[in-house]
Amino acid sequence: MKRILLIATGGTIASRPTAAGGLAPALTSAELLACVPELAEVCHIDALQLYNLDSTNIGPDQWIGMVHAVRDHYDAYDGFVITHGTDTMAYTAAALAYMIQRSAKPVVLTGSQKSIYNRDTDARNNLYRAVLYACHPAAWGVQLVFDGKVILGTRARKIRTKSFNAFSSIDYPDTAEFRDLRLVPFLPMPAGYGPVQFQDRLDPAVFVLRLVPGMRADIIPLLAGHCNALILESFGVGGLPGGDDGPLFAAVRDWCAAGRLAVFTTQVPHEGSDLAVYEVGRAAKALPGVLEAQDMTPEAAAVKLMWALGQAADRDEAARLFLTPVQFDLA
Ligand code: ASP
Repeated sequence: MKRILLIATGGTIASRPTAAGGLAPALTSAELLACVPELAEVCHIDALQLYNLDSTNIGPDQWIGMVHAVRDHYDAYDGFVITHGTDTMAYTAAALAYMIQRSAKPVVLTGSQKSIYNRDTDARNNLYRAVLYACHPAAWGVQLVFDGKVILGTRARKIRTKSFNAFSSIDYPDTAEFRDLRLVPFLPMPAGYGPVQFQDRLDPAVFVLRLVPGMRADIIPLLAGHCNALILESFGVGGLPGGDDGPLFAAVRDWCAAGRLAVFTTQVPHEGSDLAVYEVGRAAKALPGVLEAQDMTPEAAAVKLMWALGQAADRDEAARLFLTPVQFDLA
């Protein structure tokens, strides 16, 4: 029997109504396991209560805590299932994909839209399938299991706030899917995977600025001193209002001239950026320090930038790391 470690971090899956009327995480990892007793027939499973947080309150410190929890138990288990709130699960999935690289053992995130004790919950199905995936011989890497889909940690995005089919793999195939309880794998583990590499340095000083028509440029210099890199969520394949004559171009040029990175991404949900297409983008693309997220998800781009800044000694090294594909984050 495979040995699986369940690492509980909170989320709706573990929530109960509070006296004040809202939902908050309350159930322990042992209580979660007790709700799915059939897991005992699938594997030997131990439980670790790492946090009990709404995932709105999960960020870089907790990502590092999860990396350490997996690292410290890596040799003792065949796979890891992390229960987590859905709201920031895509950020955590991307963070773990960058911080736990080349893992032949699966590290699987799951959660639910309804608490596990609810009559109509999706929690038991998701937790059961997450463990089934973690035990499967075809399982590998950092993945998110939700509503029968297995999605790469670097490609997952929450696309619905309420329905059970809350997550999608953006611009890349699912790793696998469940047809009832049968797993159909699509993406095999890449050749030459392993040994696993754990990294636990991040620089969270990344700011995401969503462009809106009419936005003033003088917001950008205000961020200097607070942030080491800027992500500009631009329109379409990318560009700056005013082109290379405009104040936004001058602000980005000055931002980068001080040795910082500026990464262009897009507000469009699919197919990514390509700054070279239009005159409004070409001059920005040519600036030293300007990068493109291409088809990375917004979550992956933000977290990868934190990871790259945390690893690198200088801007060029951070840029190189950012543009190096990790677990199919760039097609
Ligand atoms: N607010 C919850 C959380 O992210 C939502 C959920 O888990 O579905 O922790």
